[in-house]
Amino acid sequence: MKILVINAGSSSLKYQLIDMESEVVMAKGLCERIGIDGHLKHSPLVGDKPVFNEDVPMPTHSEAIAAVIDKLTSREYGVVGSMKEIDAVGHRVVHGGEKFASSVLISDEVMGAIEECIPFAPLHNPANITGINACRAVMGDVPMVAVFDTAFHQTMPGKAFMYAVPYEYYKKDGIRRYGFHGTSHRYVSARCAELMGKPIEELKIISCHMGNGSSICAIENGKSVDTSMGFTPLVGLPMGTRCGDLDAGVIQFIMNKYGYTIDEMLNILNKKSGVLGVSGVSSDFRDLDKAAGEGIDKAKLALDMFNYWVAKVAGSYAAAMNGVDAIVFTAGIGENSKETRKGICEYFGYLGVKLDEAANSKRGEDVMISTPDSKVKVFVIPTNEELVIARDTRDIVAG
Ligand code: AMP
Repeated sequence: MKILVINAGSSSLKYQLIDMESEVVMAKGLCERIGIDGHLKHSPLVGDKPVFNEDVPMPTHSEAIAAVIDKLTSREYGVVGSMKEIDAVGHRVVHGGEKFASSVLISDEVMGAIEECIPFAPLHNPANITGINACRAVMGDVPMVAVFDTAFHQTMPGKAFMYAVPYEYYKKDGIRRYGFHGTSHRYVSARCAELMGKPIEELKIISCHMGNGSSICAIENGKSVDTSMGFTPLVGLPMGTRCGDLDAGVIQFIMNKYGYTIDEMLNILNKKSGVLGVSGVSSDFRDLDKAAGEGIDKAKLALDMFNYWVAKVAGSYAAAMNGVDAIVFTAGIGENSKETRKGICEYFGYLGVKLDEAANSKRGEDVMISTPDSKVKVFVIPTNEELVIARDTRDIVAG
């Protein structure tokens, strides 16, 4: 079975074609500037076909999908003979609200429910819907599955997902913690259990997804019981450009003082805050490491704040679960920055964590970075959201 995985943004579309027999990625690519002019980078990963990297007119997502199918099946760049070889499509959808606690076969009814979640993710869900509709238009009856970023966190208990505001806002308006990065937390926690050789139902795991956006998840018995992102992906840890947790009073103070509208304020909190805002240098941890090394104090402060927050939130989850067996680092920073991992692990002495410096220097593979006698095990596990989407799609389509 071959499955096409689609992650559609408002002007971009990422894809992978995965052969589920071997779980090998046959081709992957990215359409950019959809609706502007259009550019496609398509990389065949099996055989010796060349990379296609050129402008292609893409007035809408439909032309983008058509261009992807064209390249996947072309004589020169293709990895399959025809579209008939693509058995199913898995779509990443950001917000499933309380309607979706797991992945689902896409029908008209499901599309309606995804549309109803637009107010919760006004930038993301419309783009995901556009991607699904474009695929349905180009690929006809091929079965399609929606995999939600929020679904994994639907197991959180009320005490974790409720905000302490009048209850009617939850009841009437759905105001609550939803959490994001669920597909990633699900993947790395399952992989962590495999690496530990134990059933996930017997483990307490803290998963730290640290990339441009970052979130931490407490996973008990294989289920998310708490997570640091909330109603939106703005909160929790300080991120590349997002502020993380913030006293609402600060918003009122700054808006009043500088006469900002709420949209201007949210733009600052989403795009100009986080480690970028504090350091004034960059949102990228590579730049921050370099700047801190050159003695720029605010870069060091931003990095210190990040490590502190990860340790603080992870510590609160160890308390919430009454213990922790393993801590996992993943995503761009988690997988690549040994300095950040070390900086965070230095806070975990009270948990009996002992870092194996040599293992912490490895890269690009699943690796345990704690010593054999470390009380709590620490892992680096490269995330693979596309594989989770493809596996869910296979399981649902195969019935
Ligand atoms: P992601 O959102 O998971 O793609 O992560 C992207 C972020 O990972 C970048 O903005 C960087 O901050 C970080 N990153 C990527 N490579 C490295 C590296 N070699 N060292 C430190 N941080 C890295």
